[in-house]
Amino acid sequence: MKLVRFQVDGRTTQGVLERDEIAELDGELFGPLRTLSSHHALSRVKLLAPCSPSKIVAVGLNYRDHAKEIGMPIPDSPIIFLKPPTTIIGPDDIISYPAMSSQVDYEGELGVVIRDRVRNVRPDRARDHVFGYTCVNDVTARDLQKKDGQWTRAKSFDTFCPVGPWIETDVDPDDLLIESYLNGVRRQSSRTSQFIFKVNDLISFISQIMTLYPGDLIITGTPAGIGPMKPGDDIEVRIEGIGSLKNRMG
Ligand code: MG
Repeated sequence: MKLVRFQVDGRTTQGVLERDEIAELDGELFGPLRTLSSHHALSRVKLLAPCSPSKIVAVGLNYRDHAKEIGMPIPDSPIIFLKPPTTIIGPDDIISYPAMSSQVDYEGELGVVIRDRVRNVRPDRARDHVFGYTCVNDVTARDLQKKDGQWTRAKSFDTFCPVGPWIETDVDPDDLLIESYLNGVRRQSSRTSQFIFKVNDLISFISQIMTLYPGDLIITGTPAGIGPMKPGDDIEVRIEGIGSLKNRMG
């Protein structure tokens, strides 16, 4: 099932996408899904980021191919950091180029949307707490990341977390093709089977540190092939079984 948040006729609502039509939902995405009322053509609505997390927990180095690319040893536990919710934008929204930076990179990532309150969950029960999966771009001011020595500024500019186009609830995250295209040219291509820490292990690890809430977003690291974007560039993150997230650098 593909769950979308969208604007239509000046209001914000949510629904289930089937082919090119959305069946609107009366309820809340993270509450009980109630009776479908009206239908909308996908072409008539403005899709929004499909979740509004209280926090975005990001994983720093989680693909074997990317660790090799940058000459980093394989970490023995996940390296995590936070992005503020104010970084979130939706499909087709513009990524703003910050005046403080002169190198802004794309990082295509699988996003995991949490279903309910999670604290101290075991890996073998972690999947029970997943609502679904989405495409994410962990936009990064690379020059500031190197300069500051820690990552908060580099990862936190408004618009630095495009998410969408929807939440796919019926996909197995452990072996999906993930690609990024810059101006239509493929720059990243890997599989989530390259993960150093699988989704279950990440949720368990993070839940031993902080309580996760419905709609919270875990972004699972980027594969090899990261690179810079210039103003006017189009960037697309495509994940098998989920969809394609497109944005432009402003
Ligand atoms: Mg990243």
